[in-house]
Amino acid sequence: MFAPLPDKPDHPALEEEILAWWDAERIFERLREQNRGNEKWSFLDGPITANNPMGIHHAWGRTLKDLFQRYHALRGKELRYQNGYDSQGLWVEVEVEKELGIRSKREIEEYGLAEFAQRCKERVARYGELMSRQSRRLGMWMDWENSYFTFSDTNIEYIWRFLKECHARGWLYKGHRSTQWCPRCGTSLSQHEQAGDDKYAELTHPSLYVRFPLLDREGESLVIWTTTPWTLTANVAAAVRPDAEYVRTPHGEWWAKERADGREAVEAKRGDELVGWRYRGPFDDVAAQQGVEHRVIPWDEVSLDEGSGIVHIAPGAGTEDFELGREHDLQVLVPVDEAGRFLPEFGFAGLSTEEARDPIIEDLRERHLLVEALEITHRYPICWRCGTPLIFRVVDDWFIGCDAIRQPLLDANQEVAWTPEFYSRRMDDWLRNMGDWNISRKRYFGLPLPFYPCSCGELTVIGSKAELLERATAPVDDLPELHRPWIDEVEIRCGSCGEAVRRIPEVGDAWLDAGIVPMSTLGWQNETAVPHGYATGSAREVTKADLPDHAYWEQWFPADWVSEMREQIRLWFYSISFMSMTLIGRLPYRAVLTYEKVRDETGREMHKSWGNAIDVEEALDNMGADPVRWLFSGQNPSQNLNFGYGPANEVKRRLLTLWHSAKFFVDYARIEQFDPAADPGELQPLDRWLQARTAQLVDEMTDAYERFWTPELVRSFEAFVDDLSNWYIRRSRRRFWKGDRAALHTLHRALVDAVQVVAPVMPFLADYLWRALRSDDMPDSVFLAGWPEPGRHDEQLVAEVAEVRRVVELGRQARSGAGIKHRQPLRELVVQGAERARGHADEIAEELRVKEVEWGEVEATELIVKPHLPALGPRLGKDLPAVREALARGEFEEVDGGFRVLGHDLGPDEVLVERRGREGWAVAADPESGITVALDTTIDPELELEGRVYNLIHRLNSMRREAGLELTDRIVVRLPESEADLLAHADRIKDEVLAVEIETDGVAEPQITKV
Ligand SMILES: [Zn+2]
Ligand SMILES: [Zn+2]
Repeated sequence: MFAPLPDKPDHPALEEEILAWWDAERIFERLREQNRGNEKWSFLDGPITANNPMGIHHAWGRTLKDLFQRYHALRGKELRYQNGYDSQGLWVEVEVEKELGIRSKREIEEYGLAEFAQRCKERVARYGELMSRQSRRLGMWMDWENSYFTFSDTNIEYIWRFLKECHARGWLYKGHRSTQWCPRCGTSLSQHEQAGDDKYAELTHPSLYVRFPLLDREGESLVIWTTTPWTLTANVAAAVRPDAEYVRTPHGEWWAKERADGREAVEAKRGDELVGWRYRGPFDDVAAQQGVEHRVIPWDEVSLDEGSGIVHIAPGAGTEDFELGREHDLQVLVPVDEAGRFLPEFGFAGLSTEEARDPIIEDLRERHLLVEALEITHRYPICWRCGTPLIFRVVDDWFIGCDAIRQPLLDANQEVAWTPEFYSRRMDDWLRNMGDWNISRKRYFGLPLPFYPCSCGELTVIGSKAELLERATAPVDDLPELHRPWIDEVEIRCGSCGEAVRRIPEVGDAWLDAGIVPMSTLGWQNETAVPHGYATGSAREVTKADLPDHAYWEQWFPADWVSEMREQIRLWFYSISFMSMTLIGRLPYRAVLTYEKVRDETGREMHKSWGNAIDVEEALDNMGADPVRWLFSGQNPSQNLNFGYGPANEVKRRLLTLWHSAKFFVDYARIEQFDPAADPGELQPLDRWLQARTAQLVDEMTDAYERFWTPELVRSFEAFVDDLSNWYIRRSRRRFWKGDRAALHTLHRALVDAVQVVAPVMPFLADYLWRALRSDDMPDSVFLAGWPEPGRHDEQLVAEVAEVRRVVELGRQARSGAGIKHRQPLRELVVQGAERARGHADEIAEELRVKEVEWGEVEATELIVKPHLPALGPRLGKDLPAVREALARGEFEEVDGGFRVLGHDLGPDEVLVERRGREGWAVAADPESGITVALDTTIDPELELEGRVYNLIHRLNSMRREAGLELTDRIVVRLPESEADLLAHADRIKDEVLAVEIETDGVAEPQITKV
């Protein structure tokens, strides 16, 4: 019992030891066995992409997930502990492309889709394993072998069912529209993927003013402005603002008057008078422009804040252009292919939009169409996955209409408990503004969309693998998984005309994969449970996940709680909500905790290329998991967290107080051979206070866990440890020296309870200390010990001591303000307020080393009032100097919290007030609690002598420590003759330093000898 603790914890080493011990003793398994069959607490894990090593920002979410799972398990609940990995879609493909040195879709096809799929699976398996290991090191308890991987055939089939349902409701359609397009990835991206600030970069682009010569007005031209030269090849119209004024310069150039920049005007017209004018396009000679008639159209949205006030319109290369094109029946010319390279009929064949920039500008210049070529730096959208600047293309994509589901989702969101609360409104905003869901990606290793459009007009949506096989035109013998290229070989028979139909080549948005998991992993509408039944298709070799039956789904759906980063509002929270609402009309979660981003310790974004990124493994190896978890838990989740060694070291320093308290106990418990089961004897008031204070801790922590509010866990625990160490232990030291059983008993109970309630936050340190503190009748691990019953409450007593501690704190403040050492005894302290502390005057006197503590008005105070210049200066103007001088002379009256001076009434916020002690007194005040104290700073010869005695005691005890003496060793002290006067207090000195004898015998410095 009570194995000794080292002087301070080596977090990483201690954590490795606990990890190994948890494994050896099967602590997690035993916890699960203990809770099996109990009331359930359902947590649903949002999948993390198994694609790279874990980032430190993942550790925040994983800390929160583990923390609340551990808490609910300690409360006896049964949990599922299923972890999830996202495992297909664009982000996996992009990483594998990098790995293989592939730069385009063409190269993927040359490499072979089957091989490419294999590489994707290998990467996911590799990083899934790595992330599981890193998560375990963080302390996360999950059923790792049972992790779900979204590329499982089972998962895919569930999504097919959802898509079939959408089709049955008429929500599914193929849209021909302009979308943001990544030329590198060769696919369009959807609104929810591209939302958010980090999806933009500051980029420098050309800023061109270009002349479009008018056909029916000899020598005149429109001047348009563009930052995307490549789109000029697809120009079909120019838009003017109908109500704006346009002017012609002597050179025949038409500009909006507001943008003409002082150019001379020889003619003026309203915008609507320009509508219908025909002009020669900038690239009329390319093949694609043959037969296109360019004209001026009206558009109310033309900006007069930038450019020329005339906007060039290319419906095939811009979203607004496309919409205008529909309205005015304009031709849609798409100049670039999937890879963003020019199609031959637009000239510049094979060049990228970037590469074509300079040749286009040169070409315009040679043909005298260029008015001016400048540069502009602006916020420009980039691909969320690969960082390539996006372009707009008009393409066919598949969409799910969302109008029918919008209101049900908004209604259901009102029932969800969001933490922090205001994120609920963010969800509402997203739901109100979400556009139709673009679900198709022109890619390879992803969810195969089961859409089979027949030339007869019939669209078949397949809902399961069985249905696919049944409707196949020929027996299918080679379909190892529901992925390309294998699935592309299967043709089905059209139900309407009987023709053979092929699948569309597109794969699905990865958020479909993650969005279905509340159904697919819990076995919704699955008749019989299948062991390892989720480990199908690509997932066969990477997991042993089961496919439960519908009864299981009924038990675990909806999740009691989910937790992900704030940006998941428009991603995972959105997709699971959308899919569950569609399939069963309910949301899949009851409560959400969401949190912001991790920055570096100076508040900058972390980037590998900036050298300020810290990866998870480095953090855990060097800081330890508990300090990292403590840092995350203490953070208000609605604010970004600044992560780094500085903050982590600060946490370690704070955790030391707990460690020292536990070590203090263990050291004395060993000396006394303390037995927690033995009768403690009579408790003292301080013991009863610690019991009540511990009960308060248990209440506060329980409440914070129930509210999912981790900053309060950290605040409450640190305040408790401060009380424990800096009040209880400080005030009881002498009792421990004497082996007081009541004190040992009380401290033991408090430490055990504290370790229990903090265990979910820092599981390693908690279990390590638990093992040091436990007696034989207690469970092996704190995680098998359940939750402590709050002991006897005594709010009155706790409030009293809180007030005592505030008085002591103020007393110390006054003392250090006056520059008097803490060891120097003083005569008197006067306390104003703090009525509840009256019964503790002796303790206050002892703590502050004053002879007397009295309650009374602290009138020994000089009031110093100065003008608060920013507030008062403007109001008083020229009177200010006189008022300032009057204040300095003390010529003012106090009136209703403010001051009257020279006939002016100054409010409390117009002055700076400082209370200073009268000569010989030091004053400190706490406006919040209304407590003021005044300390008599006079040091008479008697006090001075006592001060020297305390200095000596302090010095001798330091010498004991330096000499490595045990706590029980007795000593003999020798003092120089010059210190002989201190012997008047010989008994006190002996008592404090465990001396059997003190003598003066000519030494130059004090000496100690062990006896
Ligand atoms: Zn991209
Ligand atoms: Zn047909």
